[in-house]
Amino acid sequence: MANRSETLFTEAQEHLVGGVNSAVRAFRSVGGTPVFMRRGEGAWIEDEDGKQYVDYVLSYGPLAIGHAHPEVVEAISRTAANGTSFGAPTALETELATVVKGIMPSIERIRMVNSGTEACLSAVRLARGYTGRDRILKFRGNYHGHVDALLVEAGSGVLTLGIPGSPGVPAAVTEMTLTAPYNDIEAVRTLFETYGDTIAAVLVEPVSGNMNCVPALPEFLQGLRTLCDDSGAMLVFDEVMSGFRASLGGAQGRYGVTPDLTALGKVIGGGLPVGALGGRAEVMDYLAPTGPVYQAGTLSGNPLAMASGLATLRNLSRPDVHAQAEAWTTRLLEGLQARARAAGIPLVTHQAGTMFGLFFTDAPSVVRFEDVAECDGERFVRFFHGMLEAGVYFAPSAFEAGFVSTAHDEAALSHTLDAAERVFATL
Ligand SMILES: *Cc1c(COP(=O)(O)O)cnc(C)c1O
Repeated sequence: MANRSETLFTEAQEHLVGGVNSAVRAFRSVGGTPVFMRRGEGAWIEDEDGKQYVDYVLSYGPLAIGHAHPEVVEAISRTAANGTSFGAPTALETELATVVKGIMPSIERIRMVNSGTEACLSAVRLARGYTGRDRILKFRGNYHGHVDALLVEAGSGVLTLGIPGSPGVPAAVTEMTLTAPYNDIEAVRTLFETYGDTIAAVLVEPVSGNMNCVPALPEFLQGLRTLCDDSGAMLVFDEVMSGFRASLGGAQGRYGVTPDLTALGKVIGGGLPVGALGGRAEVMDYLAPTGPVYQAGTLSGNPLAMASGLATLRNLSRPDVHAQAEAWTTRLLEGLQARARAAGIPLVTHQAGTMFGLFFTDAPSVVRFEDVAECDGERFVRFFHGMLEAGVYFAPSAFEAGFVSTAHDEAALSHTLDAAERVFATL
């Protein structure tokens, strides 16, 4: 007999492309039927058949304080009762901007948008407008949303000029996109020697969360800062995922490297659609209405989204709250390591605050996209399905990072580690 998810997925495929509204949800890289969820509370989610899972996806990052946190639910409900959108300024926008600036000192001015994709595309346009240059540089395996100019897959070889990674993206749009291997500062230096005075911006995930979880090497980010300073290019940190996770102050807080611009998303909306672009006032003021670079949005700064983000960030900024979640992440990874070792399964783990990565590989380290691609994908698929069956929800792809929330506790941890012990024994 089909379970509810199978029935719902069959129906969804009649109406939604591939049955989903975002591609990775379709389980294509792990096979099987996506599980339809109906509720979440704290660290746990429940599917349409009533089965419970410890959640390490957390909506792909946003839910830093867990599902349906009472403070977030209350803030959204209270705000909604007064109207959901005005298309006029509200006090909540300034409140959230103030809180974000307090957490990330590199941000002097901010523009709220509706998604991480929008934040990144606005960053590119602003950097180009401000510098009067056209080229941008990104890294292989870094994802900046589905922005045309950033959907570039580097071809084989060390350095490649941009080739579109998706049909529908004209080569003319990606011609100005340079790509380099992640964590390879020498490759970037070589590109700067040729193109330095035409590069508007370097976009980087300072902790990469879209090639599983791979933190930048400290000298890599510092090197990018120096190259940008010397050439006049903008250094843009895409902290859509690492913001409020790699540390409370994001990867920039963790590494002590200051970008010119920062793209935010995910946690900043606490589960509602929010993105933001922030940075040096002089650069940000180049955006309309103070500057000539056009950017706008009917629902940008939406009151419900601002209220949700504010409640989330206020909670997360209380003393020791983020630190506690980081400590849980460490315990989770130590527990998984110990059980993998006992089962004779080679496992590399990465942690950046409350983000983590699991790699089935006996390589000594994982620092580039190629290292991630060489991991045992088939073993990951068996691990994923085993854990799902045992009530632990990881992202359905070996290229996604994992997340811990402040709601993860002793019960969630021991449920996870007991399941892992059983699943590792079958791998
Ligand atoms: C998720 C993500 C994006 C895109 O954000 P959306 O809200 O999905 O548009 C951009 N950059 C990074 C690093 C991300 O993780």
